[in-house]
Amino acid sequence: MNAASDSLQVAFDRVFGAIDQARRAFVPAIVAREVGTVLSVATGIVRVGGLPGVGYAELIRFPGDVSGIAFNVDDAEVGVVLLGENTLVHAGDQALREGRVTDVAVGDGWLGRVIDPLGRPLDGQSALPGERRAPIERPAPTIMARSPVVVPLQTGLKVIDALIPIGRGQRELILGDRQTGKTSIAIDTIVNQRGRDVVCVYCAIGQRASAVAKVVAVLRREEALAYTVVVVAEGNDAPGLSYIAPYAATSIAEHFMEAGRDVLIVYDDLTQHARAYRELSLLLGRPPGREAFPGDIFYIHSRLLERATHLNKAHGGGSLTALPIIETEAEDISAYIPTNLISITDGQIYLSPTLFQLGVLPAVDVGKSVSRVGGKAQLAAFRAVAGDLKLAYAQFEELETFARFGAHLDDDTQQSITHGQRIRACLKQPELAPVPVEAQIAIVLALSAGLFDRIPMERMSDAEHAVRDAAEKSVPDAVRQRLLGADKLSDQDRAAVIAVARQALMPFAPAPQAGAPATPV
Ligand code: ATP
Ligand code: MG
Repeated sequence: MNAASDSLQVAFDRVFGAIDQARRAFVPAIVAREVGTVLSVATGIVRVGGLPGVGYAELIRFPGDVSGIAFNVDDAEVGVVLLGENTLVHAGDQALREGRVTDVAVGDGWLGRVIDPLGRPLDGQSALPGERRAPIERPAPTIMARSPVVVPLQTGLKVIDALIPIGRGQRELILGDRQTGKTSIAIDTIVNQRGRDVVCVYCAIGQRASAVAKVVAVLRREEALAYTVVVVAEGNDAPGLSYIAPYAATSIAEHFMEAGRDVLIVYDDLTQHARAYRELSLLLGRPPGREAFPGDIFYIHSRLLERATHLNKAHGGGSLTALPIIETEAEDISAYIPTNLISITDGQIYLSPTLFQLGVLPAVDVGKSVSRVGGKAQLAAFRAVAGDLKLAYAQFEELETFARFGAHLDDDTQQSITHGQRIRACLKQPELAPVPVEAQIAIVLALSAGLFDRIPMERMSDAEHAVRDAAEKSVPDAVRQRLLGADKLSDQDRAAVIAVARQALMPFAPAPQAGAPATPV
């Protein structure tokens, strides 16, 4: 009896001990929270009073699950950029400080997904469970954390890989008028990363839903969606969402870069982004500057693109290559936003509507395009001939204008034009048809050796395909390895590739006894 009451006592002590311990450990979570009041609501912005302690860029929550970013922090009121429908917020509503900046869920789980800039799924699938969140804005990696751009990012487009090469970690602007093939270049580049261990992020800003759906369908069909994240702020979304979209997409991309991977990010396009920011700034009463853009428009783009880089080994060795897109009006590349972006990026690919109408696709204007970094990262085999090729092509573009006037041309000039026409024909390429590097090198070597010059223009397409097939089939494996290596191409290897191309072109050249010069177009 006594023993039983003792053991009961022990059990009681244990239970009460545990309760007592839990009681001591309990810290009442009373958190003081500032609650403000919505004073007025306009398109995309809200003015809030009664939040004296709010910080710049802090997240504010409204009823109806709408949030906003504190943008204008004044004494009496706060100008908040809405990240949702303004019809859901009313004057007099409560506004709650979240005590943190805007962030987005990041993680490997986003691959193959279509999401909005706040990380809400747009593809009908579930949200990312238990993943890390990262602020959408943060300082770019320091200079000490970066290393030079040395590895090429192959776009699979001959005109770019040969003449305007892009390196991993570079920022290359794609600009041109409406409907000149800007998105196509970016999509082709994403599709070409299949099997290359490059993660891609496509950030659509201010586009129509149908245009985005088309891009997603193409990526899915080309089996490129599996390694791509699509971040979408549609044209009819709140301007605040368009404004944060590229920053959020960059945070999602940085997650992969920090894991040591190579990442490609496309911003399609930053003209819409600049417009959204201008709209917000004007609504918030900030003074307009050139073209009514606010004074800090350069800064908002530069701090975005500064985040693209190649990290050094100590920081994992990952890279983030950025392809921002800008739409020009009436081919005016010296307008405010294009010049800003040109000076921020490491080069630009300019797409000409004139070339587009002539059917020279991709419509890259080589004379106005440049890559200020990629040349160092270009494969040595390309680099050896790219300079000559670019020069010959640029000369041809100038001469072509003269030739149009029907002027009598001397033999040398005629030869330059013939050669230039062959270069242009070889650089043409349909969409979604990436060309492997070794085939590209074979074409470029054959071009610079003048092998195409005798081939009639109407047979150029077939001839180019023949060289491409031959390069894939007949170039010995050992030579192929060296073509893709970093070392300079030896004379023997070069001769071997040219011999393969010459063989492939035999059926296309006119019979030698005809002695006819190649037919001009
Ligand atoms: P927007 O200004 O509307 O965004 P964009 O400049 O992004 O247009 P795209 O949508 O990429 O242009 O292309 C415009 C049209 O040109 C599309 O119909 C596309 O299929 C076609 N196109 C682009 N590149 C090529 C190509 N290399 N070969 C054939 N057609 C092409
Ligand atoms: Mg487009």
